[in-house]
Amino acid sequence: MEEKRSRNFIEERIEEDIRNNKNDGKVITRFPPEPNGYLHIGHAKSICLNFGLAETYNGRCHLRLDDTNPTKEETEYVDSIQEDIKWLGFDWQDHIYYASDYFEYIYECAVVLIKKGLAYVDSLSAEEIRKFRGTLKEAGKESPFRNRPVEENLELFEKMKNGEFKEGEAVLRAKIDMSSGNICMRDPVIYRIQFSHHHRTGDKWCIYPMYDFTHCLSDSTEGITHSICTLEFENNRALYDWVLENVGTEHRPQQIEFARLNLNYTVMSKRILLQLVKENHVSGWDDPRMPTICGIRRRGYTPESIRDFAVKIGVAKADNVVDMAFLEHCLRNDLNKKANRVMAVLEPVKVIIDNYPDGKVEYFKAVNNPEDENSDSREIPFSKELYIERSDFMEDAPSKFFRLAPGREVRFKFAYYLTCTSIEKNASGEISVIHCTYDPATTGGWSEDGRKVKGTIHWVSAAHALKAEIRLYDRLFTKENPGNVEEGKTFLDYLNPDSLKVINNALVEPSLKNSNPGDIFQFERTGYFCADNREFSGNNLVFNRSVSLKDSWSKIENKN
Ligand code: ATP
Ligand code: MG
Repeated sequence: MEEKRSRNFIEERIEEDIRNNKNDGKVITRFPPEPNGYLHIGHAKSICLNFGLAETYNGRCHLRLDDTNPTKEETEYVDSIQEDIKWLGFDWQDHIYYASDYFEYIYECAVVLIKKGLAYVDSLSAEEIRKFRGTLKEAGKESPFRNRPVEENLELFEKMKNGEFKEGEAVLRAKIDMSSGNICMRDPVIYRIQFSHHHRTGDKWCIYPMYDFTHCLSDSTEGITHSICTLEFENNRALYDWVLENVGTEHRPQQIEFARLNLNYTVMSKRILLQLVKENHVSGWDDPRMPTICGIRRRGYTPESIRDFAVKIGVAKADNVVDMAFLEHCLRNDLNKKANRVMAVLEPVKVIIDNYPDGKVEYFKAVNNPEDENSDSREIPFSKELYIERSDFMEDAPSKFFRLAPGREVRFKFAYYLTCTSIEKNASGEISVIHCTYDPATTGGWSEDGRKVKGTIHWVSAAHALKAEIRLYDRLFTKENPGNVEEGKTFLDYLNPDSLKVINNALVEPSLKNSNPGDIFQFERTGYFCADNREFSGNNLVFNRSVSLKDSWSKIENKN
């Protein structure tokens, strides 16, 4: 059921355009990733926004691979981007485009500017160009090459294209205003020389258009109506409009900026994510601790939970930081309705029921999901020897400890009431066996005489349980804002050394043998766990903890 919410400022703007019949009332958005890394949760926000607006206003959303930097881009990234967007549940139909498909057109647009006296080939070095640019307080200085005649510029640009200059020897710049208060308008570089192989155009080009020149022209040529981007491009909007106006394109999209998503305890910079992967601080782009879409998918996040998150955090005009606990809250919310409950014991200790017949096995019916009225159930084997969580037993238990302790009776979920009678310890003093008796008049975990117990615990049957590897993930960084690096440190100093804890000897109920990679469960009383989508098989039970059961978000919410 869709929740009612008020319109955000982008929606208001679009609705106004529709009312005024701008663009014939059409809405065409785009998601324009650069294929230089895997998509992350910040991109997910942009995907949900752009594809979501297209859905809301019966328009469409294009996927455009913004591939103008051949040195950093790879087809592996192009493929992963498509996979991740589809997984999130969005469809660009046949509207997938590549900025590189427009190289010819963009080149022609540059020639148009040169002919109008609005672009020139500059022979200053990159270093000099930077120095000449000036600062926020200080106007820039004009390049001595700024007033080259049109003919010379045409000739030099042609030479750039033909590979007659070395990298860095010449660039093409828009001729705008070196004293503009907006530094973006101080004769920005629009083409540079780069002798690198491009993943799509091969060695055809040795000059590549810059982002600011490419983006607006790509938007325009695709008929994009609303070009939505993050706040750091606010100053670039003037250049976006300048290029389209001066090239004289027929169609002029409207750029609208919104605040990017920031999440605490993680980073969203592709450069840093790449470094984490390359230096093996994580196992790969899809390491479940990564904020990448493939990482959180492997962690057990569902597309629905991410879309819900994207809607609920909303669209703002000012930067902010969202609490990781809120993302987790959205996942719990979704999984609570969907995930089947199963019994898994992470740190097992043995229980022997002294008055239970040797060799007997009973099967108890267990409902898969009590939150779902149409839920199926399954049968769980019960026998004389069981395992329970070590933390569910205490030798000297305080009165508030509602689990197992000497002389106390608790419910073994779905099975019986059991009372602890004695314990055995090993040589090092650790409890090795907990002896209990059961009450046969409590079948299914309910007492015939109406007697109540304070606690219910989970268990597995020793003879039937399966060994599993459980990976407990925690936040990747110890610092709220790891991108904010103190002097003498790097972000690597904030990596959480305990972000992964592996339990090799967990025991899970036998039904889990039949699950599939990617299946998500609630381990009773422990948390949500996902069968690892790479390593899980019926003979190698590997589960990743997605989130614990405890929702710290509601606490935070009440505090605010
Ligand atoms: P880079 O660090 O390489 O500049 P980027 O994060 O800007 O990377 P792009 O591939 O250019 O990555 O991003 C594609 C789209 O996703 C852009 O429109 C960008 O505005 C949007 N986007 C990127 N990061 C976020 C974020 N944290 N929140 C919202 N949108 C984002
Ligand atoms: Mg970018």
